[in-house]
Amino acid sequence: MIEWFNKANEKIQENKAYLTSLDQPIGDGDHGINMARGFQEVAGKLSENDYTDISAILKEVAMTLLAKVGGASGPLYGTVFLKMSMTLKGRDVVDGTAFTKGLEDALAGVKQRGKAETGEKTLVDVWQAVVEYFQAGNITADGLVEVAARAKERTKDMVATKGRAAYFKEKSKGHIDPGSASSYLVFEALADVMK
Ligand code: ADP
Ligand code: MG
Ligand code: MG
Repeated sequence: MIEWFNKANEKIQENKAYLTSLDQPIGDGDHGINMARGFQEVAGKLSENDYTDISAILKEVAMTLLAKVGGASGPLYGTVFLKMSMTLKGRDVVDGTAFTKGLEDALAGVKQRGKAETGEKTLVDVWQAVVEYFQAGNITADGLVEVAARAKERTKDMVATKGRAAYFKEKSKGHIDPGSASSYLVFEALADVMK
């Protein structure tokens, strides 16, 4: 779990400018900055403290992202990892079934928090695709990356109806959603640690 977040942090730092560039045409150009600040803090916290269980790690991640990311994405990423933490509470080992349940609850939580459904050009689109992939079984690292990448790319042709991008209406078309791109990196990091 710790390796996952360290990897995610690396990828977000490397892609800070890219994430911000996605947020420029259909937002306020801060998504890379927000995510880089939050994940840097997460990696710092995880290296400083000891954790007795997986749920505690996820809770620390959630609270840190909530406090440090800001913007719309802070509470949304805070929610996903807090929900996952609650679902995995009391577990020493997380198998595929438990992790899938964690992802399902994270997705349900973020949908409720952002009042977003799939197809609204938000990070929900990537989380939904990944949840369905885990539910189907036969999970591989390469398969996970492929599914997350495809979901991120699909947001390009969507018209945004939630978040700042919704102000751009039809003009939001033709741009990848920044939050989908950061969620893609989170799952690319997960795939890396699964290998
Ligand atoms: P802000 O828009 O406040 O500047 P960020 O730029 O950090 O925040 O994050 C923007 C991302 O948050 C979007 O690309 C989108 O994926 C996600 N987002 C925004 N509003 C919602 C919502 N209501 N539901 C789900 N995701 C959302
Ligand atoms: Mg923004
Ligand atoms: Mg902002």
